[in-house]
Amino acid sequence: MLKEISVSSSQRIEMIDITDKVIEVVRASKINSGICVVFARHTTAAITINENADPSVVYDIENKLAKLVQHRDNYHHSEGNSDAHIKSSLVGASETIIIENGKLLLGTWQGVFFCEFDGPRRRSVLVKIIGD
Ligand code: ZN
Repeated sequence: MLKEISVSSSQRIEMIDITDKVIEVVRASKINSGICVVFARHTTAAITINENADPSVVYDIENKLAKLVQHRDNYHHSEGNSDAHIKSSLVGASETIIIENGKLLLGTWQGVFFCEFDGPRRRSVLVKIIGD
């Protein structure tokens, strides 16, 4: 089963919790055991799994990435968004999560985040569910 999720950001750099949307796709698939792949189809965005209980974790990740890869830094790419391309590659385009008993086996504090690095934009995330 393949499903597309729409995500809208309001900041240039923003991590958006899409855990509930992914859980809904898994529920609708009725697949009891298998894997779920969450994939961002963009060169300046990414998918990551991290803590969604304390919002300061996301704040710290966003801030540290902004400091590690600065927006302006004599890049060659003429579009002016090289930092976003680099952050996208550092974080990665996808995550894979195990499904068991019809549920994502995320840890207690883990959530799935869509990471925007060149927003605000409207984006698309693909969720592929494969049963055993
Ligand atoms: Zn670019």
